[in-house]
Parts: sequence; structure tokens; C-alpha cells
Amino acid sequence: MLAVRLSVSKAMGRRGKKNAVSAIKEMITESQRRDTSPVSLASSRTSSLGRTFQTCSQELEKKVGDFVQAEGKSKLELEKKEEELNKSKQEPEKKVREFVQAEEKLKQQLEEKEEELKKSQQELAKKAKELVQAEEKCFVKLKTKEKEIQKSYKNVQELKRALSKKEEELEKQNEKVVKHEKLVAVLEERLECPVCLDIPTTGPIYTCSNGHCICSACYQGKASNCPVCRTRMFESISMVAAAVVANIDHRCRHEGCLERLPVELKEEHRRVCAFRPVTCPALRCNAKVAYSLLVDHLLNHCKESASKEHGMWDMKNSSETYPFIYSTNKEEEGNSSSIRVMTMMWRSKYFFLTVQKMAGSLWNIYVQMLGTREECRRYRVTITVEEKEKGLVETSCRPPHPIYEEFQDIQGLVVNDDAMKDMAVKHQNGKDVFYVKLKFETI
Ligand SMILES: [Zn+2]
Ligand SMILES: [Zn+2]
Ligand SMILES: [Zn+2]
Ligand SMILES: [Zn+2]
Repeated sequence: MLAVRLSVSKAMGRRGKKNAVSAIKEMITESQRRDTSPVSLASSRTSSLGRTFQTCSQELEKKVGDFVQAEGKSKLELEKKEEELNKSKQEPEKKVREFVQAEEKLKQQLEEKEEELKKSQQELAKKAKELVQAEEKCFVKLKTKEKEIQKSYKNVQELKRALSKKEEELEKQNEKVVKHEKLVAVLEERLECPVCLDIPTTGPIYTCSNGHCICSACYQGKASNCPVCRTRMFESISMVAAAVVANIDHRCRHEGCLERLPVELKEEHRRVCAFRPVTCPALRCNAKVAYSLLVDHLLNHCKESASKEHGMWDMKNSSETYPFIYSTNKEEEGNSSSIRVMTMMWRSKYFFLTVQKMAGSLWNIYVQMLGTREECRRYRVTITVEEKEKGLVETSCRPPHPIYEEFQDIQGLVVNDDAMKDMAVKHQNGKDVFYVKLKFETI
């Protein structure tokens, strides 16, 4: 049956009408072979064909449905693909745009960099030029310096030669000086007066027949004998000795001093010599010390110096006030600083303050200065004892006194003891004190 159906359908489908006629002929042949009528065979075949047709149309419908479905699906996919394609088409555009933008940006940056490079190249070129110029300048300077050095070297050489020449001259001079000193020493030995052991500075210088010299101060007259050889002196004077003393440099006689001076300057030097002996300003000390050692004596050795105990008063201001104990007790006076000398410094000069209780109920207050009388005249010290509440004041203003070679009574600000008593006030330690104010000035 299936073979017949297939053959019919094939005949109908593929061969058309001619094939249909041949199919009918076949059918008739078939019916004859089967011994049945062709109609019944046909009807049976028709019903079979109808069924086959139905099945086919069902299948066809199904196929059509599947096809439609597949078509729809394909369409959707196609749309999707198109969309994707569009999308993918757009993406490269975007990328291209971005790329172009980035390229532009890069270009710009590149330009900027090029500009910078150009600038830095220009600067570099400028710097290089400057460097070359500086180098040239340095070179010129170097050359100048070299020349200067050469010149200096020549000068140094010349100076060295001059120096060695001078050194030779100096050596010769030194030899001369040594010779001269030896001669002076021999002459001094001969000129030294055997009585006073001093070398006379002025004539006449007397001599005995053996040539011994006697100074005019020690010469005892023409009837006297020579103190060395005992021969009669007569009245002979030595012109040579007078000429020598007038022309040699005389040694300073102060201990420690090494100065040698012409006779006309000797006296002046003696007055200002740093080794001249002076009397300690402390009233109960009276020690004789070299002028240059006086401060050391007062700060470190003198028992009557308040500064040995309390140190030196370094005056920062021109005016200072110091308290002193007022006492009528003799013993206490001795122990208090009221009688001991105070050392102070003002503008690098040394001053010494003495507050002295004298006989006859008087107080004597004065300031001395380490200096000559001439130096003292350039300063002025105002000494004031004052009691402000009672309105009492005693004052004196004058240059400081010098430090003397020999002890001298000095009169400074003199205050009556009664007046001093009135000016004394109770100090916090219970003792009566009066205040001495010093004011220093230069004139
Ligand atoms: Zn003499
Ligand atoms: Zn003699
Ligand atoms: Zn001297
Ligand atoms: Zn002393």
C-alpha cells in the first residue's frame, strides 16, 4: 500500500497529467492481475489516497507552521544580528573618534613638548653662550692674576733681597750697639762716684791724679783726699767725664725698670716710671710699692685694703653710693671699712676712696687716682654725704689726688662729727651708717 501511495503521489507530484494517465493504466493492469474491478481498486486507492493526502496536508501544515516559526525566529535573529552589526558599526566610529581625539591631544602635547624643547634649547644655547663669556672673562682674570702673581713674586724676591740686606745691616748695627754698650758699661764703671755709687748726670766731675771721678755733690774741696787712692784731690775736673755723662743714655734707677734715657729725659721718666715707688694709700699701711704693682698690693696683699676682702668695685655707672658704718667706738672704727681704703675702677682707671676719722672729731673723705698729677687734672670727683629726709648735705667737687711717692696728708671733704651723726641712719644690720656718693666725670 505504501508503495502504491508513494508511486501515485510521485506520479501526481512529479510527472503531471501524462504520468497520471500512465498510473491509471497501471492500475487497470493491476486490477486485472488481481482479478478485481478497476473501480473498486480505484475507490480503495482513492480512500487510501485521501487518507494519504490528509496526512500529507497535516504534515504540510505542520511543516508550514514550523517554517513560519523558524522564519519568525530567523527574522528576530536577523534583527538582532543587524542591531549588533549597527552597534558594532557604531563602536568603531566611537573608537575612531576617541582615537582621533587622543591623536589630537597627543599632537597638542607633542607640540607643547616641542615648544618646551625649543625653549630649553634656546635657554641652553643662551647659557652656553654665557658660559663661554664667563669662561673668557675668567681666563682674562686668570691671566691678569697670573701676571699679578708674577709681579708679586718678583716683589717678594726683591723684598727678600732687601730684607737680607737689612738683616745684614741690622747685624752690623747690633754689633755696633754691643760694642757701644760695652763702651758705655766701661765708662759707667769709671764714672760711678765711689761715695754715692751713682752715675752723675751733670758736671763738674772732679778727678784725682789717678783718674778716679767724684761727683760734685760728694766732692769735699781741694784739700780732701781721693776716697779710692787717698791722693790729694786738688781742683782738677774731667772734661772727658762731663762730656761722657752728657752724651750717654742713663739707666733708670727704679728697681725692675730697664729703660735707658738721654740725660735730658731722665728726670721726666723718673716721674712717670711704672716702677717708681709710691706709698700705699691705706692710712695704716705705709708700704712702698712699685707704681705698677699698687693695685695688686691693694687687692691681694694689703691688710688695710677693703678690696682685699671684698674685691674691686667695678663702676658700671658714673655714680655710685657706698654705705659706711658710723661709730664713735675707736676699736670698731679700726675694724670697719670706714678707715680702710676702697679700690674702684671707672673707665679703665683705678681710684681709691678713703674715709678717715681724724682727731678733733672730723671726718675726712677723699679720692686718689692711680696716675700723675697731670692725669688727675683730666678728671673730677664729686663726693657727697647726704640725708635726704632731714635735708642735710655735705659735698665737695674737685679732681682726684694722685698717688704720692711719699706719704702726704690729704684734705678732702671734711665733715664735722656732729653733722655726720645727724646724717647717719639705721641700717638693716642694726648699725648706724652714712652714705657716701661718688660721681666721676672727665673734664
Ligand atoms: Zn757722689
Ligand atoms: Zn783716686
Ligand atoms: Zn724707669
Ligand atoms: Zn698697703
